[in-house]
Amino acid sequence: MKQTVDILGIPFYNVSQSTFVDELIEAAANQERRFVVTANPEIVMHTKQDMAFNHAVLQADYIVADGIGVVKAAKSIGKPLEGRVTGFDTMLGLLQKANEMKMSVYFVGAKPNVIKKLVKHVEQNYSDINIVGARDGYFLASEAEAVADDIFQSKADFIFLALGFPRQEKWISSYIEKFNKGIFIGVGGSFDVLSGCTKRAPEFWVKSNLEWLYRILSQPRRWRRALAIPKFVMAMKRQRKQR
Ligand code: UDP
Repeated sequence: MKQTVDILGIPFYNVSQSTFVDELIEAAANQERRFVVTANPEIVMHTKQDMAFNHAVLQADYIVADGIGVVKAAKSIGKPLEGRVTGFDTMLGLLQKANEMKMSVYFVGAKPNVIKKLVKHVEQNYSDINIVGARDGYFLASEAEAVADDIFQSKADFIFLALGFPRQEKWISSYIEKFNKGIFIGVGGSFDVLSGCTKRAPEFWVKSNLEWLYRILSQPRRWRRALAIPKFVMAMKRQRKQR
C-alpha cells in the first residue's frame, strides 16, 4: 500500500524525488499505465472550486508535492513528506533514464516555437530517446480526441503534457481509460524551461524555498493566481483547528 498524507482532501504520495522516478520507470518497463499529478497549493485550492478538476485529480495514481507549501503543510500536521517532487525534476529524471533504456516519449503542450526547441533540445541531449510524437498545446477541444488517438498509435512509454492546469489533468482524466500502457504526467510550464524559452528560478531561490516568489516576480501576470497561497495557509489553519 502506498503511503499518503491528506492535505485538504488531496492524498499526497510520500516519496522521494529519485524513488518516484525509479517507480515510474519500473512501471513503464512493465508496460503499465500511470496518471501522475504534480500539485502545489494553487492546484489544491483549485480542486475546491472546480469539481471536474477535483474529480480528475482524484483519479490519478499518484499526486505528488510540487510545492514547498504542500511540504510545509504536511509537516505542520505532524505527517511530514519526504520532500518536494516536482514536475520539472520528474521529467528530467524520466528523460535521463528513458534515454539509458532507449524508451519512447510523446510531448504535448506549449507554444509551437517552444515545442520545436524542446524537440531539438531532447534530440541533442538525449540521443537514445525515441521521440514518437510532439505537438503544441493550442489545439481545439474538438481536436482533443484526435490527439489521444495519435498518442495511442504511437505506443509511447511516457506522455508529457504541458497544457497548464487544469487542462492537462482534465485531458488525461478524459482519455486515459483508452490506454493500456503509458506514464501520463502533467508538467505545467516545464517545456518552456527545458527548451530554454523561460528561465527556471536560480538555485538560490529554489534552495531558499522561494521558487514560488521568483515565479510571481518574473511573471507578474501570475500575482492573481498567487492569491491561492494565503487561502491555502488559512484553510490549513482551519484543518489543524478541527483536529
Ligand atoms: N499552454 C498550452 N495550451 C493552452 C494553455 C497553455 O499548451 O491552452 C501551455 C503554455 O504555453 C505553457 C504551459 O501550458 O507552456 C503552462 O505553463 P504554466 O507555467 O502557466 O503552468 P501551470 O502553473 O499553469 O501548471
